[in-house]
Amino acid sequence: MSTHKITIALAGNPNSGKTTIFNALTGAHQKVGNWSGVTVEKKEGIAHCGEIEFHIVDLPGTYSLSAFSMEEKVARDFILSGEADVTCVVVDAGNLDRNLYLVAQLLEMETPLLVIFNMMDEVENRGIRIDIEKISRLFAVPVIPTIANRGKGLNEILDTVSKIADGDLTVRPATVHYPKEIENAIAQLEKNIIPPSCGLKSCPSKWMALKLLENDSEVRRLFKDQPSALALADELRKSISQIFKDDPEMIVTDHRYGFVNGTLKETVAYPKVSRRDITDSVDRVILHKFFGLPILFLLLWLMFEMTFTIGAYPMDWIDAGIGALAELLSESIPGGGLFERLLVDGVLAGVGGVIIFLPNILILFLFIALMEDSGYMARAAFVMDRVMHAVGLHGKSFIPLLMGFGCNVPAIMGSRILESRRDRILTIFINPFMSCSARLPIYVLFSAAFFPDSAGTVIFLLYLTGIAAAVLTGLLMSKTILKGHGEPFVMELPPYRIPTTRSLVVHMWDRTVIFLKKMGGVIMIGSVVVWALSSFPQSEEISADFESRIEAVKNSAAADADEKIQELQNQEASAQQEYSFIARIGKFAEPLLEPAGFDWRDGVALASGLVAKEIVISTLGVLYGTGQDTDEESTSLSDRIKATGKTPLWALGIMVFALLYTPCISTIAAIRRETGSTRWTLFSFSYNLALAYVAALLIHQIGSIFIL
Ligand code: GDP
Ligand code: MG
Repeated sequence: MSTHKITIALAGNPNSGKTTIFNALTGAHQKVGNWSGVTVEKKEGIAHCGEIEFHIVDLPGTYSLSAFSMEEKVARDFILSGEADVTCVVVDAGNLDRNLYLVAQLLEMETPLLVIFNMMDEVENRGIRIDIEKISRLFAVPVIPTIANRGKGLNEILDTVSKIADGDLTVRPATVHYPKEIENAIAQLEKNIIPPSCGLKSCPSKWMALKLLENDSEVRRLFKDQPSALALADELRKSISQIFKDDPEMIVTDHRYGFVNGTLKETVAYPKVSRRDITDSVDRVILHKFFGLPILFLLLWLMFEMTFTIGAYPMDWIDAGIGALAELLSESIPGGGLFERLLVDGVLAGVGGVIIFLPNILILFLFIALMEDSGYMARAAFVMDRVMHAVGLHGKSFIPLLMGFGCNVPAIMGSRILESRRDRILTIFINPFMSCSARLPIYVLFSAAFFPDSAGTVIFLLYLTGIAAAVLTGLLMSKTILKGHGEPFVMELPPYRIPTTRSLVVHMWDRTVIFLKKMGGVIMIGSVVVWALSSFPQSEEISADFESRIEAVKNSAAADADEKIQELQNQEASAQQEYSFIARIGKFAEPLLEPAGFDWRDGVALASGLVAKEIVISTLGVLYGTGQDTDEESTSLSDRIKATGKTPLWALGIMVFALLYTPCISTIAAIRRETGSTRWTLFSFSYNLALAYVAALLIHQIGSIFIL
């Protein structure tokens, strides 16, 4: 097998990312030594790509190639030695004016060249636009954009290098145009010098001539055997100096910079106001000592208000659609048997009850995505830093907490960004108090039904209660079993940027898929189980009793017979439900539920919510769905619940309970996984449950006193 060998020299300004690229390309195959005779470090490494073996040399960082310093001399000599088949010049694309000067010099050396525009992330962050293709055309060399520390664009480098080395890409570097007098002098010198036999593979005579005009001492030394060439150079230098009233090297340098500036003018567009400036002035307000926190809370309030108000419209449409579907099913399935009831009273009442909240959840996620993508999330953490310190955590912990508004599971995994185990445990422990989107349907349902005029605010206050519970719990823990302070750290604040539609759409779509899968899976199964448990067993006695009473009404031939029959049928269904398995289970817990203002149905719904919080709604949908008339236009779940005489106080109790109590199974599993401790998991489970119960108890007991 014949392996093809290509040698690459990596040149570039210091800190342009050469070593990062070198390391990424060569991995562990490196050798560090010194350049012969000097103390400048020489790094060499090997990269393989298919049949080709790349030998890569990381040259010392230089701003120019004038051979003023040891580094410059080493770099220049290596490039001139012709050892490298291709020279790659790494450019910090965020500092083009400084970096392209070196590129201009390399272009003049007429070696096969590849330009790498690194740090493109910085460029984008600052809103600068570079027409890379145009630069590539102007320089007549390939230009490759990269983000080296994230490995972006690195494959392109080796690809292009092998094309250049194979001669598949004609590289004919464009060079700086000097004034006529200098160009003439270069041409004249070129004709009168014999390229020195200096052991160099390539000795571009034009470059040598230019260097002689620049009075480059290294190159002059190469010509010490050609005194006539040196004399001619001196003579030309003198006449140029007389014409321009300046040293030729100064004029040459000026024109190189002119070449760079001209290129930049044509290819780089800076934002009118730099994004840094905008970011700084926005930050002055957003991160303000006093206003920062109110602004954060105002934004959160706005988020929940919008979630509720905008979400109400599509919610009505979906609701109407589900009502129509229920009717269609009732009509098209003959006989009105068990199967119809399974579909309508089980699946549709359960899943349908939850699915109408999809728009609300999507709007909430849209807001979270907007906060993340715009760069506000990091600011929120910064603003919360002081509050979090009071709890013994730092602001960085607020990011996993805010993510908990979406879903606790990734948020708990997100606590991995914290360094110390204590901080991680504490953040994980308080995360379930951040109301996840699965709890949103519960809030939306009950707020709309019982607090129609201020539903958005009620929801916002619930979320705040969650944050307060998290903060107080954190305080308690950091004063007792998790003593300590949050570790100090530097908060990175990315520049603000307009979120891309694409990213937002992808985000929404992902959430929709996850939500619908959950509906078709665990919520559907839960609904069917709850329906089955609440439909069986049936009491013969109750059936017989109601049958005879309905018969009696029919025989009485009263004017309102139909209505009465309907009512009796509803009563029968309720009575049958009271006789079912689920009622027996629920009633078993009633002594515990009653002091908190809950009945057995609420207890069952909340308990089933341990599987997934949406199931609270689907269970209520099934339990309150049965025994309602389906002949007329079906009333909404909230109306049906209200019809049973529930009060706003009850709604408040159940919402707060749902907010605080033990999170769903997936979250518990995540807590177990991330803490690696069963004891912490059990503790978290029981602490949440106890806190929720006490809160509901207090709300009911104290509330009852005031209302009575
Ligand atoms: P060298 O002096 O040219 O060898 O530069 P280094 O490879 O040491 O890189 C200097 C710094 O820039 C390091 O902190 C790198 O992590 C960072 N860096 C390298 N490439 C990129 C990039 O594409 N984007 C950003 N933001 N930083 C980079
Ligand atoms: Mg380096």
